Amino acid sequence: MKVPLLDLRPQLAALRPEILEAVTRIIDSTGYILGPEVIDFEKKIAGYCGTDEAIGVSSGTDALLAALMSLDIGPGDLVLTTPYTFFATMGTILRVGAKPLFVDIEPASFNIDPEAVEQALDTDRSSGRRIKAIMPVHLYGQCADMQRIGALAQRYEIPVIEDAAQAIGAEYPFVEGEKVTWKRAGALGLCGCFSFFPSKNLGGIGDGGMITTSDAAFADIVRSNRNHGAEPKYYHSRVGGNFRLDPIQAAVLSVKLEHLESWHAGRRRNAALYRQYFQEAGLVDNPVKLPEAVYAASAGAEQHNHHVYNQFVILVPERDTLREYLQQHSIGSEIYYPLSLHQQECLYAENYQQFSYPVAEHAAAHSLALPIFPELTPEQLSYVVETVEQFYRTR
Ligand SMILES: *Cc1c(COP(=O)(O)O)cnc(C)c1O
Repeated sequence: MKVPLLDLRPQLAALRPEILEAVTRIIDSTGYILGPEVIDFEKKIAGYCGTDEAIGVSSGTDALLAALMSLDIGPGDLVLTTPYTFFATMGTILRVGAKPLFVDIEPASFNIDPEAVEQALDTDRSSGRRIKAIMPVHLYGQCADMQRIGALAQRYEIPVIEDAAQAIGAEYPFVEGEKVTWKRAGALGLCGCFSFFPSKNLGGIGDGGMITTSDAAFADIVRSNRNHGAEPKYYHSRVGGNFRLDPIQAAVLSVKLEHLESWHAGRRRNAALYRQYFQEAGLVDNPVKLPEAVYAASAGAEQHNHHVYNQFVILVPERDTLREYLQQHSIGSEIYYPLSLHQQECLYAENYQQFSYPVAEHAAAHSLALPIFPELTPEQLSYVVETVEQFYRTR
């Protein structure tokens, strides 16, 4: 049996006529830059995320970059973020001339630790207030602890840029006494940055991204920055870039958005099957640490997207040998991410090596993402767990 980490073909097969129709429509329209399809898709995403506005951009990376530029973050500034994420989170901070200030993650969620955020903000307050934004990442499809991070951001008056690239549709429970209010990623800070990279839960047929916000003034600046900061055309009071979303991507993504909820449900069903099979195999906690769905209890019997499982990431001993073994048995897997960002070569000159983030470093050494895409069959998932079991049985 073969179990690829990700196979986009079944999704394409199901939607092929509609996708081709959408692409043809844009080609025949000869309107190839922005236009009605982009505006229409922006409205749909704003509605889906629960924000007033959404601005289509060229990628998730450019969403982060445009957000930082629109806050005038630059040289001398710090952005508080996690060292355990895709490179773009930190890459965009460096590209505007600012520096990342890392705080460690929580072991249960792989997301930024609010305790550490508070400490960093406290220290910053007494030493010059250089932190100009907090950039939590909703890693693998589960939101960071936004209630506590949001309260800190408010207290210190610092904007929150959500890196929601892996978490479109992920819901977060705000708890007040008995009352639980669920809000979606992208509506939890000043703005949310999304990616439509093909491997994300909502993926285009190329690059694409989106910034969501309910701050009208900020939205205006982002919209201007998306198009060279031109306001009006050919007059530039600020320097933006070309961060425009392609209408072909917008049209295709509009088709796919209709199916997103059922894909989330498929991923969650697969995660539940993995949990069951790992439990039955007696592997849970030792040696396989399963990912924790930290908001599942708040979701109760209701079907909230407490986790949208862009990735299903386990922590295991002998990770690299297990990965090879899975490969030999035709099972795909990936390491997200093998190196904590503070240890990346592009930061050597900045001396970040002096810091240590033990939870992030442990995750980098032991994490392994297993296939979780919606169209996988129970037989395939069971084969993955059996193969993991076989590997550890012979150790
Ligand atoms: C995918 C991703 C990005 C970048 O998105 P692109 O569309 O590939 O530029 C940024 N941050 C995180 C956490 C991601 O997973």
